[in-house]
Amino acid sequence: METESPVNGAELYDKLNVLERDEYDAATCDRLAATIGEIRRLKRERRAVILVHNYQRPEIFEVADFIGDSLELSRKAQQVSDADIIVFCGVHFMAETAKALNPQRTVLLPDLRAGCSLADSVTAEALAERKDELLKLYPDLQVVSYVNCTAEVKALSDVCCTSANAVQVVEALDSEHVLFVPDQNLANYVQSQTAKQIISWDGNCYVHHQITAAEVEKVKHGVPGIKVLAHPECRADVLALADAVLSTSAMVAYAQKSAADKFLVVTECGLSDRLLMEIPNKHFYKACKLCHYMKMITLDGVLDSLRHLRYEIELTEETAAGARRALEKMLSIAV
Ligand code: SF4
Repeated sequence: METESPVNGAELYDKLNVLERDEYDAATCDRLAATIGEIRRLKRERRAVILVHNYQRPEIFEVADFIGDSLELSRKAQQVSDADIIVFCGVHFMAETAKALNPQRTVLLPDLRAGCSLADSVTAEALAERKDELLKLYPDLQVVSYVNCTAEVKALSDVCCTSANAVQVVEALDSEHVLFVPDQNLANYVQSQTAKQIISWDGNCYVHHQITAAEVEKVKHGVPGIKVLAHPECRADVLALADAVLSTSAMVAYAQKSAADKFLVVTECGLSDRLLMEIPNKHFYKACKLCHYMKMITLDGVLDSLRHLRYEIELTEETAAGARRALEKMLSIAV
């Protein structure tokens, strides 16, 4: 999504006002609009492209060359052809993915504190140990790593997957036994969709794992006819209440095409912001939680990142090559 139209404070105020948040008052929107203008100018000067995850702050969407989920951004990172620099507005493992797929380009993450509880739940050392143990029991075992993990973990995996293609990737493997890392809820969801044996890691995304079935049920009963869209990183009892289990970008497509006009979006709150701004004629209720890692990225941080070319993501050649192999295998399988 290219958003190069001029933005002034008043236009931005009107746009962000659909979110009904006090933080976006007229003075703040004036300041944000000035920063957006400067980022756009510098982006052209630096020959940079800005990739933005669906969970980012709404004002960050205004400087995006492309907004999407992990799979879309992975593909976009691979297709970037006319930029010297990629500024990644997301979390650290996503910027590593962009670097692995674009080793010749400078990849910048505006704030190094933008980590991920899920990626932190598996280290390469622990994975290597577990894989060795399991290979003794299941010689055909293959490791599938959800892209929400470090480049080192990806490099030890047979193939990566995203929430959008996890089932498809597992089904495409010539193995009946799969060690699935690091998200236990996504692993459980994949297990519910395949006859293969999924051995799950015990990690979780703290954002999705804290959403309860009781919260979802309350809204469902209070708003008759509402469609519940849930992310597969949620617990199984939450997914059981969903009309559709979807990745974030699939939620956007579903809400756009559906005849329904009321949705409960069960994922990180940034996606609800995107839906409210892009589909203003439908109603989006929230059972969402904020990811404090994603919110580390600010417009000021993006501006400083472009000004000072910081913080550069670096990978060893071996790690980059291993991660790229697992990511490219995924991209060759996923539609
Ligand atoms: S939403 Fe969850 S998986 Fe995504 S970055 Fe935040 S903690 Fe990690």
